[in-house]
This record gives sequence, C-alpha cells and structure tokens, in this order.
Amino acid sequence: MRLLVRHRLHGAGHEASGCVPRVHDVERFGVIGGNRVPRSVLRPCYHGDHGIGRAISRMSCPRRPLQPSSDRARTDQGSDYAQPSRRDRVSGAVILLYHRVGNDTVDAHDLQVSVDHFRSHLRHLTSNYHPVTVGAVVESVATGVPLPPRSIAVSLDDGYLQNLEVVLPLLREFDVPTTFFVTTEGLDEPHENWWDVLSHVMLGPHRLPSTLDLSGDGSDVVSTATPLERRQAHDRLTQHFYGLSVAPRCGLLATVAKWSGLTMWPRDSHRVLLAGELALLSRDPRASVGAHSVHHPSLPTRSTQEQWLEVTESKSILESLLRVPVTGFSYPYGAHDPTTVDAVERGGYQYALTVEPGVVDAHADRFRLPRCEVKAHIAPTFDTWLASMAGSGW
Ligand SMILES: [Zn+2]
Repeated sequence: MRLLVRHRLHGAGHEASGCVPRVHDVERFGVIGGNRVPRSVLRPCYHGDHGIGRAISRMSCPRRPLQPSSDRARTDQGSDYAQPSRRDRVSGAVILLYHRVGNDTVDAHDLQVSVDHFRSHLRHLTSNYHPVTVGAVVESVATGVPLPPRSIAVSLDDGYLQNLEVVLPLLREFDVPTTFFVTTEGLDEPHENWWDVLSHVMLGPHRLPSTLDLSGDGSDVVSTATPLERRQAHDRLTQHFYGLSVAPRCGLLATVAKWSGLTMWPRDSHRVLLAGELALLSRDPRASVGAHSVHHPSLPTRSTQEQWLEVTESKSILESLLRVPVTGFSYPYGAHDPTTVDAVERGGYQYALTVEPGVVDAHADRFRLPRCEVKAHIAPTFDTWLASMAGSGW
C-alpha cells in the first residue's frame, strides 16, 4: 500500500504553475501522525507541506466562482431578415447535465441523482423526447440544419467510475447517447475528487476531533463537535478550496485528512475513472468523451498560461489515450471568462459547455452552450421540470 504524507516538487518549493503533474516528480516522506493516508485517495500533489492555517491565512476566502452572463446575442451578419433565415428555423435542443449517479447517503453538493431516478429519466426521455448526441446539437448550431423537435442530449461531468459501472448499462438498456466530460489528472492511480474527499472527511459517519484550527495560529478555531458545526466547517473549507490552485489544494486536503485521523482509501462509489476504464467506456458507440481540464480548477482564477495548459493538455492526453478527436470542453464549475473561451477556441475545440440553464437555440454561442443541470431535488419531478423548459420557446 502506498502512503501519502507530503509531496514535494523536485527543485521547487513554490506553487506549481498549472503543468501536468507527474508522479515521478514527487517524494514521499512517511506517515502522517501514524495514520495511513494512501496517496491515491487524494489528487496527485507535488508541493511541500501545507498547514490549514498557512493556506487560509495567506489567501482571502473566495466565493464560489460566479458565472459570467452568457453572450448569446450573436446574430447572423449579412442575412436578409425579410424572411426567417435557415438558421432561425433551427429547432432548439436541451443539453442535460448530470454528475454522479449513485445511492450514497452523503451528497453535500447536491451532485448525485439516484440510480432509480436516472433510470426513470432515461425512460421518460426515450418515450417523450428525441435523444441526440451533444455533437449533433453543436452541428445543428454550426450548420443551421434543424434537429428533430424535442431533441435532448445527455452529458455527465467529472468522470466517476459509476459512469462505467452504473450509467453505461442503463444507456445501453435505453439506447441513449451520452457525452462524458473528464479531467485527466491521475488517470494512472485511483483517487477521488477533492470535494468528495472533503465531504467524506467532514460529514461522514465517524468521529472527528472536536475542534479545527482554520487559522493555524489559534486565532480561528472552530468547533466540529456537532453535525451542524461539522457542516459549517465543511462549507467554509469548500468555499476556500474553490479558489485554490492545484498544489495548495492538494496540500490542504492532506492536512485535513491528517487532522481527521482517518484511514482513507478511494471509494468505488466516488473515485474517478482510470485510463483503462475510460478507454473501455469510450468504446461503447453510445459514449463520447470530452475534456474537463486537467486539474479541475476554476479557470478564470488562473493565469492565461495556466488556462491554456489546462485546456490543451487535457485534450492532448485524452486524444492520445482514446485515439479519437476530442472536440468538446466542459468548463469546471461552469466558470469561464473571455480568456478561457479564447483558449478553448484556439485550442482546437469545436464547442464548450457552461452550467447556465437554457435551450440551445438558433443563435447559441458554440463556446458558451447552456446546459440544464439535473439535481437531486429536481430528479423526482424530472418530467414536469423538463416540460417547463418548453416555456422558453423550445
Ligand atoms: Zn466538474
């Protein structure tokens, strides 16, 4: 069993600059406080020690990235508007967004849809709508060739193992095409996304120390004795994590794991796909794969160079692995700014997806396509929720 304690980038004690992490660049130092913490439960890390206090006191605590308003006001230039253009007659389509399909009891970020609900959604889609690929929606926007009425595409973000073990069999059962947007960090070692590790540590059914020093110097010690206090501490940490770059994020996660005293190992219910599993998923004719960056940062908080690397490296890694063109990008957290969009366009993608709800209409911007996120609280009333989309002219 490999143990994680601290990783250090050879020859650099500073924050990494967005390059793809390489496992051989890290050193292992020993066991944290006598607790076994497999490296693989955390994202690959390549930075020195990070106390909670140092990380939080050094940086302001950002809000979750806000979504820039969509720029979907583009119109055909030079057209004769005496009659509706061909583009104006393009049927709208809806792109659905799911994250994790499962039955876990802890779903702190409202990202999970139960297996039964997902199955019922697919049944409803095939009975009442016209399932298409995301690529078909994009092609319709690009060419002006209309899609069948009530066209819907399905997408899933974050590349969970459950996509292969739970989602794919259901897609086969109902013959629904789906695009999976995945990150490319750690494709060679089992791990969970940071938000799942954090939720598991802070909210799971286990004992924790009764206090957590968020400042590192005793000036901001919070109680974690009750479920409410644990939730409040979790939420503060989550807001902080959104704004962190890879190295401090990984270090802080290791520090929280150490504080918890838990022995952790990636859970099959939450870990992300490994390279071979992703290749297996992509071989199914119903499955397409798009990029979701390398490390899942909030891209607008990163430098232009870091954004470029996150966008282009993830594409090249996936294309090398899967031997197919990767033409779609999903913005992590949906966050994007003009620099991000420019990187995606220049990086060779044909489209990018946000998390802004809406119908993909005739004037949609291919690099800011809306998606309708299916959350757990929506899942039981999926049919009426989906029908409400028609209110916007769909
Ligand atoms: Zn994501």
